[in-house]
Amino acid sequence: MQVNCKVNVVNRLLPSTGKSGPSRLAWSSITLTENKSSVIELALATSRNKAGMKYRVTNNIEQIFSKFVSQGKLTLRFREPAHDLCLSGEVKQMEKILAIIKGEDVQLKKGILCPILSNSTNKVVIPKTKLSILSRADYPVTTSFPETLTYLKISGIALKKFDRRLLHLKLLEILDLSNNQITVLPETMHNLSRLKQLHLSNNEIKILPETFINSARVICLDMSHNQLMTIPSCICRLSGLQILKVDHNKLRCLPSTISKLKNLRTLTLSCNQIRILPESFQALALDHIDVFGNPFENSSQEIPLNPGSLTIRVATLLAISAKSTIKFKLKYTEEDIPYTLITYLHESSTICPCGKLCVDDGILSDGKINLLKVSGSVSGDKIVPVKMMLCTATCFQRFAFKMIS
Ligand SMILES: [Zn+2]
Repeated sequence: MQVNCKVNVVNRLLPSTGKSGPSRLAWSSITLTENKSSVIELALATSRNKAGMKYRVTNNIEQIFSKFVSQGKLTLRFREPAHDLCLSGEVKQMEKILAIIKGEDVQLKKGILCPILSNSTNKVVIPKTKLSILSRADYPVTTSFPETLTYLKISGIALKKFDRRLLHLKLLEILDLSNNQITVLPETMHNLSRLKQLHLSNNEIKILPETFINSARVICLDMSHNQLMTIPSCICRLSGLQILKVDHNKLRCLPSTISKLKNLRTLTLSCNQIRILPESFQALALDHIDVFGNPFENSSQEIPLNPGSLTIRVATLLAISAKSTIKFKLKYTEEDIPYTLITYLHESSTICPCGKLCVDDGILSDGKINLLKVSGSVSGDKIVPVKMMLCTATCFQRFAFKMIS
């Protein structure tokens, strides 16, 4: 039986043993064989050391650390030499190795899975980590995608559906499905927990599912040239996001939660239907923003500022709870307060220009913002209207229809 997995060889006799140094996992080829005397041996070869190292398994294992085998991790402690082999690979492979070593694998005992050691150890197969599919003919239909992929590009092949097999590529860091005809994204895309870059430009996507992706690892999201009408407020969960491209869509507004993307540096909004930006926009600190080609409203019309005539909305119970939680700096977990309140706290609160927290009980008004104050460079209009939530009538008099600095 031969498998490819990552292995860290720890020599217990060396002084560094036991210290948590940097991981030295190397792609290796492991071959388990049984010789004529029914002794099981394990041969380990890497691309650097093709001749490899041979370990006797039968009566030579001091301890097996299999607690994390369900996560694809297994450590074998040999008596002679005093080595620990820390294996990391696919769960099925680890379970198979464990079964063989424990003598539970019948197949090996019969000698079926016993390739000749000397031949097999010379071949160290480095698993495929990058794959580009740029023509329909290369698209795997009967075969599967290698589970070891970290980069996958499937572009320009008129793909109509998001292939659910991709959701099993747990190691994927960059996924590029640009220039296709995808209309719907799966709701379980957050399963791709290692994703750093997602390129979906030039497709026909109308909706971003609420549970789309929520990892703080994502740094680049390109949804340009699609059919998006809105961006869900849960976008704020992508706290590591640096580049957000949503130009050439059908967006009418942006969620106020966009200001929670503290690491955002590039934002492209050009060629949408945006008439007004959320007030929280002033909290952004961008390097570049592109707002070209949006029908921004000219909010120059003044209305009489009579505080008495203003209707201040009554706060909902949810808003009052949220305010109290923040006012008293309550430390909470999901066990202490309802999930709806947590979501509300994370996604709904805005700050009045006076600095006070404002929830949905404030006065909605318009103002203006100079985009050069939130971004190093601006393409398109510099002065654009923003929607404001003002906490009191006094703040309305002070800020409504004015430039927020
Ligand atoms: Zn205020």
